[in-house]
Amino acid sequence: MSPSPRPTRTICGALPESRMTNKSLQTALIHSDYRAPEGFAAFPSAIHHASTVLFKDVAAMRSGNWKDKNGYTYGLHGTPTTFTLEARLAAIEDGNHCLLAPSGLAAIALVNFGLLKSGDDMLLPDNVYGPNREMSNWLEQAFGVQARYYDPLIGARISTMIRPNTRLIWTEAPGSVSMEVPDLPAICAAAHQSGALVALDNTWSAGLALHGFELGVDIIMQALTKYQSGGSDVLMGALITRDKALNDKLALAHMRLGMGVGADDAYLVLRSLSTLKLRFDAHDAGARDVAHWLKGRAEIGKVLHPAFEDCPGHAIWLRDFSGAGGLFSVLFDNRYSEAQTDRFVDALKLFKIGYSWGGANSLVMPYRINAMREGWQQPGHDKGQLVRFYVGLENPIDLIADIAQALATL
Ligand SMILES: *Cc1c(COP(=O)(O)O)cnc(C)c1O
Repeated sequence: MSPSPRPTRTICGALPESRMTNKSLQTALIHSDYRAPEGFAAFPSAIHHASTVLFKDVAAMRSGNWKDKNGYTYGLHGTPTTFTLEARLAAIEDGNHCLLAPSGLAAIALVNFGLLKSGDDMLLPDNVYGPNREMSNWLEQAFGVQARYYDPLIGARISTMIRPNTRLIWTEAPGSVSMEVPDLPAICAAAHQSGALVALDNTWSAGLALHGFELGVDIIMQALTKYQSGGSDVLMGALITRDKALNDKLALAHMRLGMGVGADDAYLVLRSLSTLKLRFDAHDAGARDVAHWLKGRAEIGKVLHPAFEDCPGHAIWLRDFSGAGGLFSVLFDNRYSEAQTDRFVDALKLFKIGYSWGGANSLVMPYRINAMREGWQQPGHDKGQLVRFYVGLENPIDLIADIAQALATL
């Protein structure tokens, strides 16, 4: 068989002319004249993949402002996909502005690096999300920012800790391991009296069961990695604000640090948002069933679930929250060692050992809370082993049976 003839080359490297256009096929593959018809309608948001965004002419490019959410300048600053997700997240929290970040921790970094400078002071609850503590200690050691920690139940007494250079107060409602519920209105009132801003990590309630802006906070942070994604498959974070000037400050940090999110990830979160409330309510109901059952067990010292009386700040939860979701912890009775409760965790079959939460699968995690928290080492404080449960979307009856068989190994 004779080899097929190679195409004749007129220009070095060019392929024959396309039958469809008068361009070479090489160019026609890149510059297609086809335009899909107008008028397509469907429920899902379109997924716009773009780094480069096109301007219709030089004037449009020159007048383009990357901060303007009515237009497009570059993939990093927004596409219809990311703008749609931002708008929907802002609506959940009853806020006006939203910025997306590649993880919850990246969103935390935007607050810290966007609002603080050398010489500033920040306050964080002693039960703050661990990596935020790590970041704040880094800010202190390397960037000349002071980071101090307060008792999460401090309430109005936080005014005694605020200094003239205190710029930022972090809150978490509740703490995601030890579950103390803070008095946000009291903390916000004290902060605002001194001109400090309050940031709330509102991940536990997904923004559904706690309305941070009504209670006075300035910035709401969400780890969308959790309930909003709902699939244990996406990392993303968001910052929601009401104040335009504050949003612009954070947006500047977002630009300077290059915190882009991928279109496919944004789509996955958008896809899950429709069921967010129903999933959250189902997690809430399941977690209360499991927590209630644990409360009746002699092996358990305390149930640290904000809807239960054992939980520090329970009265504040009753006042400020409308739900609880799937995450809570227990303290085992003092007579059990870490080795014993580790054996319990290893014996669980439906509850898998893993960080994060918000998906359909139940999770469990033992924490060395003593080592994590200054306040925990005070005399008279609880000494039992802390184990955190995340109740997924399985039938609570099966989850309780799983815990019962694992408790038998103690
Ligand atoms: C998971 C989580 C974060 C961080 O989110 P990532 O997307 O994992 O970086 C922050 N705060 C709380 C309370 C969380 O549970």
